[in-house]
Amino acid sequence: MFLKLVLLIAVVYLVYRAFGGKISLPKKQNKEPKELDENTLIECSSCSVYITKKESIKRGGKYYCNECAR
Ligand SMILES: [Zn+2]
Repeated sequence: MFLKLVLLIAVVYLVYRAFGGKISLPKKQNKEPKELDENTLIECSSCSVYITKKESIKRGGKYYCNECAR
């Protein structure tokens, strides 16, 4: 049982090394990303609907959905 665990860790480590340590960890690892990811859900300042950042329209430092930005 213990040997299997050690072997598993060794294999995972070797695979990790094989990829040159370039395996990207989930972005949740970032505590505070400077820029919001374009798929980040943000709330419309006017109607409180949730939209992704790339769908939003930024006005005066606030984000609005397409409906409210018209
Ligand atoms: Zn809105």
